[in-house]
Amino acid sequence: MALREILVWPDPRLKQKAKVVGNVDAAVRRLCDDMAESMYEANGVGLAAPQVGVHQNVIVMDVQQRTDKEGTRHKGEGLFWLIDPVLKFAESEFTYTEGCLSIPDEYEDVTRFGHIVCEFTGRDGKRRELEAENTLLSVCVQHEMDHLQGKLFVDHLSALKRELIKRRMKKLKAQREAERKGEATAL
Ligand SMILES: [Zn+2]
Repeated sequence: MALREILVWPDPRLKQKAKVVGNVDAAVRRLCDDMAESMYEANGVGLAAPQVGVHQNVIVMDVQQRTDKEGTRHKGEGLFWLIDPVLKFAESEFTYTEGCLSIPDEYEDVTRFGHIVCEFTGRDGKRRELEAENTLLSVCVQHEMDHLQGKLFVDHLSALKRELIKRRMKKLKAQREAERKGEATAL
């Protein structure tokens, strides 16, 4: 397994639509595993392939992570992948405060469908269905499916809010770039 760099918005690669995977071969399974490792490393609950610059319909998710009384973070219990997901049913509304690994430290309320049924292929290549209603899972599935369409949660906000966040992200990227250069000089 290998960590993959998570792109920070704004980046043209995050606006690009992902393609259908179809057959789950060894390369797709490797991508699945790399994405899981990258998601856990970044303390995220979901990650879509375009966020690591790969334009394939692959999502990794684990919304069951929790920290116990001893402070140990439990990861992996709710780990699963959605390959080529399709919404079969969607109704009602649910509002949740969302964040995104590609938009660090920004959280905003987004209203999406409340009750969904999603059909997808698992890492094992089998087609299956999941149903979720008004939960982090129902939110996460729709947030990650948006990424496959080149859409981010900021696209659900007002233009003004989006511009403010974009400005902060550009500043963050410039800072990170300066740090990277600084490190290179230090070597
Ligand atoms: Zn996201």
